[in-house]
Amino acid sequence: MLDEHEILNCLPCGVVITDREGRILVWNRAMSSLSGLSAEEMEGTPLQQWLPDIDRSHASIVLPHRDQWLDVRVHGQDFSGGCAWTFVQEVRQELDQAQADFVSTVSHELRTPLTSIKGFIDTLLRSGNQLSEKQQHRFLKIAKNQADRLTRLVEDILTVSRIQSGRLKNVPQRLDLAEVIDLVLESLSQKYEARRMHMHLPNGLPEVWADQDRLEQILTNLIDNALKYSEKDTCVDIYAKLDPEDESVLWISVRDQGIGIPEVHLDQLFNRFSRIDSPLTREREGTGLGLYITKSLVESLGGTILVESQFGHGSIFTVCLPAAQHLPMHLEEGLHA
Ligand code: ADP
Repeated sequence: MLDEHEILNCLPCGVVITDREGRILVWNRAMSSLSGLSAEEMEGTPLQQWLPDIDRSHASIVLPHRDQWLDVRVHGQDFSGGCAWTFVQEVRQELDQAQADFVSTVSHELRTPLTSIKGFIDTLLRSGNQLSEKQQHRFLKIAKNQADRLTRLVEDILTVSRIQSGRLKNVPQRLDLAEVIDLVLESLSQKYEARRMHMHLPNGLPEVWADQDRLEQILTNLIDNALKYSEKDTCVDIYAKLDPEDESVLWISVRDQGIGIPEVHLDQLFNRFSRIDSPLTREREGTGLGLYITKSLVESLGGTILVESQFGHGSIFTVCLPAAQHLPMHLEEGLHA
């Protein structure tokens, strides 16, 4: 015969069973090690007494654990005799490690342009009067380019930090894709020749369900990369269509005829600070954060991003986003409220 208490004690996550009045009947072993409070002292007491803000939905709460506070995710499920609660510790340590790795990579990335700026300014200060005007101008130009790079890096890092902390809020709405692409192409035409960019959208394409700023940023990053990693006499084409197998999804593709990406690098493309070493990449300005940011933004809009590429023959980046014509009922209702 199985002993229910024993089974609950074997589970790796914290389990608490309360009766209809919220009094603790079971406080399993994982819960004791999570909270530092034993079953003996907890069983028979009201759960609310220990965790007054607890509610039945998933939530993060903090438990007093010896001298420290502990983040846990909680879920409560009612049954006929009371409620079964699960408590799972947040993976804080892994997050801390990832954070530490990020800070160390960021510091390294920031130091490179800073060292260069400092080096050239030091030289100008120390021996500027021995340099020709042309040399002085060249050194100042390098320092300015590096300062611009630093600015771009800081902006991208701030975006990454906003994404990670969930501070980047989306306000999704119905958007006419052609209008958004037009805006993006117009703004990119300040930097690249307009004749290199071509939009091909079929008639009757449904609207896309997205946040306008995020969608503009996604398309800007992809089209900018497509133009940046291609020779100047090539074109970039932007296509869109409904997913042939699922009409609730819109595909937006950006295709270039550029340097392409070797297959071995496709996996790491969306990682932070990932730049693929090639003569053209070295020549072109970049932070290696654009595709990471793009992927995070696409996912925040409920979409996915795919890449196909043939080294030396160009790439196609495809973003799949919800089509507004097939919105789930609750979103439609929210729209008309
Ligand atoms: P970056 O700021 O370096 O452009 P991204 O994150 O946007 O950073 O891109 C990461 C790397 O992926 C680039 O450095 C480049 O090597 C490669 N890459 C991105 N888009 C393309 C493309 N359309 N064609 C070829 N390589 C690309």
